[in-house]
Amino acid sequence: MLPVIALVGRPNVGKSTLFNRLTRSRDALVADQPGLTRDRQYGVGQLGNRPYVVVDTGGISGEREGVEVLMDKQVRLAIEEADHVFYLVDARDGLAGADEQIAAELRKTGKPVTVVANKSESLDRDLATAEFHAMGLGEPVAISAAHGGGVKPLINRVLDTF
Ligand code: GDP
Ligand code: MG
Repeated sequence: MLPVIALVGRPNVGKSTLFNRLTRSRDALVADQPGLTRDRQYGVGQLGNRPYVVVDTGGISGEREGVEVLMDKQVRLAIEEADHVFYLVDARDGLAGADEQIAAELRKTGKPVTVVANKSESLDRDLATAEFHAMGLGEPVAISAAHGGGVKPLINRVLDTF
């Protein structure tokens, strides 16, 4: 069985951009419009001789009321199927309203989670991740899905745990 990595996070944080970079798939819908990828989307990637599966998701809205609807069914299913979860955030935005509730939800799943601070290409690495320590999900990792910075070390670190 290949290790499965699920990409979750708010719309527009760069999940599909990272999916494409990790899988070289043309299928994921990468758009400037938030929330366009509605269902789970699978791709296979490889680092060195180690293959892995990546699951893209349509996003956690964080806009509706209540913890139950923070993550829709597709996101929950993707997390259930995953061996590791990347919780993507926009490093330029900092912590958002529902992040603490989402962090609590993610901890409840019992899955290993890495907080990935995307869009960090023009930010100091420590500044990019500083705020996200407060989520209590371990050391956040700064990357740029669009430019590629930090992506290989991130995936390498995760694959080392399998
Ligand atoms: P998703 O909704 O989470 O799947 O986000 P997308 O992958 O569709 O990306 C949303 C927007 O953010 C697009 O305009 C991307 O080009 C942009 N984006 C994604 N990754 C980066 C990044 O590392 N740096 C910057 N500056 N923009 C990015
Ligand atoms: Mg998307």
